Amino acid sequence: MLQLKQTFQGVLNLFLERACPLCQRSTAHYLCQDCQRQIQRCQVAGNEWSEQTPYPVFAWGTYGGVLKRTLSALKYENQPQLAQPLGQWLAESWLKSGKAVVGATSIVVPIPMHESKKQQRGYDQAELLAQSFCAASGLRLKSQGLERVHNTTAQFQLSPAAREQNLAGAFRLGQALQRSSVRSVFLLDDIYTTGATIRSATQTLQQQGIQVSGVLTIAIPKTVR
Ligand SMILES: [Zn+2]
Repeated sequence: MLQLKQTFQGVLNLFLERACPLCQRSTAHYLCQDCQRQIQRCQVAGNEWSEQTPYPVFAWGTYGGVLKRTLSALKYENQPQLAQPLGQWLAESWLKSGKAVVGATSIVVPIPMHESKKQQRGYDQAELLAQSFCAASGLRLKSQGLERVHNTTAQFQLSPAAREQNLAGAFRLGQALQRSSVRSVFLLDDIYTTGATIRSATQTLQQQGIQVSGVLTIAIPKTVR
């Protein structure tokens, strides 16, 4: 039923203008031009790889302002369509960076939500971002590469030490990577903050002999860059 509703909505959207999810002005696109321009001012220009992180992190933008607002709308205001332009912009800057190594090992695994949370929200934003990113970049998507085992407490409520604890053993290898010959992957998440989520996911993959080549993210705070 949900799928039917989504298909119907997709058909409707072809013909109707809708409200921009950020400012409610009418637009035929995912966002109105004004909001799109404002978001694009958050883009990191030319130095997308962060050097302050223990893993190579490739970020499209700086977390804050209207980009923060957009990610919040994507996650908490039932605006899954925002994943489409964000994933596409990440892919465009990735391809332009000249450091993108595209080959047989270029596989993208989104950091998954717990299944019960996904059911509640109706979608998993990192999965949608990864779909859009892979469609535009040519990298291969493994949506079920990881599974979230624990329904962890929201990270922002916790201290750094409590975040590590909260996330220890949070993941297990998902169906898509079981019995596969994949030996390295890129992880993709909407935001990179303390890196605790990535550390936990990386541990799970490494235990299975899979290396993490890097992390792709829409936004990284200025303090982490
Ligand atoms: Zn707008």
